[in-house]
Amino acid sequence: MATMNSKKLSSQEAIDLEEKYGAHNYHPLPVVLERGEGVYVWDVDGKKYFDFLAAYSAVNQGHCHPKIIDSLTEQAKKLTLTSRAFYNDTLGEYEKFITSYFGFDKVLPMNTGAEGVETAIKLARKWAYEKKGVAENEAVIIVCKNNFHGRTISIVSASNDPDARKNFGPFTPGIIAVEYNNVEALAELLKNKNIAAFLVEPVQGEAGVVVPDEGYLKKCYELCKKNDVLFIADEIQSGLGRTGKLLACDHDGVKPDVLILGKALAGGVYPVSAVLANDEIMLCIKPGQHGSTYGGNPLACRVAITALTVLKEEKLSENSERLGKILLDELKGIQASYPELIKTVRGKGLFCAMVIAERNGKNAWDVCVELSKQGLLAKPTHGDIIRFAPPLVITESQLMECVDIIRKVIKGF
Ligand SMILES: *Cc1c(COP(=O)(O)O)cnc(C)c1O
Repeated sequence: MATMNSKKLSSQEAIDLEEKYGAHNYHPLPVVLERGEGVYVWDVDGKKYFDFLAAYSAVNQGHCHPKIIDSLTEQAKKLTLTSRAFYNDTLGEYEKFITSYFGFDKVLPMNTGAEGVETAIKLARKWAYEKKGVAENEAVIIVCKNNFHGRTISIVSASNDPDARKNFGPFTPGIIAVEYNNVEALAELLKNKNIAAFLVEPVQGEAGVVVPDEGYLKKCYELCKKNDVLFIADEIQSGLGRTGKLLACDHDGVKPDVLILGKALAGGVYPVSAVLANDEIMLCIKPGQHGSTYGGNPLACRVAITALTVLKEEKLSENSERLGKILLDELKGIQASYPELIKTVRGKGLFCAMVIAERNGKNAWDVCVELSKQGLLAKPTHGDIIRFAPPLVITESQLMECVDIIRKVIKGF
């Protein structure tokens, strides 16, 4: 077995292996990474890059954060998985920690983000039948257009992205969509007495960092309260400091009824997701009615406690808020110089995006390829949008270096 790893692969060899043996469900930039530390990653040839995707905001705490890695390795030597057939000595401590951290009665631990969203939907349906009094099988979940909540059948049933849906039907019923950032449209749909929940991303990440109007979430929350409907926030990408607050809902002073977390909950070292809610809602699910073999395992719990601790200790939300303003200003400055190329710049905290106009057959993908050559990794979304979301441990001088790279590349187009 050891000999398998002894020969170092070239970039092309690594790419060829993935092409030949892996399912073709992704289209990566041609960069093969081997090592990461903080805001930096290195490819197999030793070239260093700023990571401006941060694994879709899973590595807010920076790559291979030493404290998180220590927690991982220490716990890995002791106990990794018991299943929930037995108690373990870490889960309760984690549950107490995360519920007081976010101010909820209870947490339900899962692994991936999609599982967290599935859990929230199941919970909302159960609550609708058992507390609200919706007739069996009639519950409806409202989602937003252009959402991204993951890839399971039920979640793609809530999507309007043709790539996510085409030939994956039949779809899960009981899901309807409302225009994002449109309070009146939501009010209209809430006239239906069978609505269990409104599921929303406080900032739409995959849609291209779409930031709703100030007050939107608050108004939606109040409408939900008035209509006895659960407000579910999917903060898997927007949460944990990314937008300059611990949660993006904090910008509007909203505390969701159900909060879904993932990604940076484990600082990029392990898949950990969580659904938080108060007893009135969470206790609708009884023993045997939902779960996951790996959910709540001691390794995940240790890692998540440390990942959340690092977030506070290193004031990453505050750093994101301060540097996010600088990044957005700088991007706006670049846009002002090249208005024909850059259609829009937007963002909140270190969660920004640029909408690129296609020119001479070149688009956001080409800009990203050029950025990577200049030592900055970013990923295009929807063909014309580039997201800028570095690890939140980035410093001001590192950020300014990155702004210079972005300016130089845009100038070259
Ligand atoms: C990434 C993401 C998910 C899905 O998480 P996975 O861990 O990939 O299943 C769900 N919701 C949002 C907002 C996300 O960004």
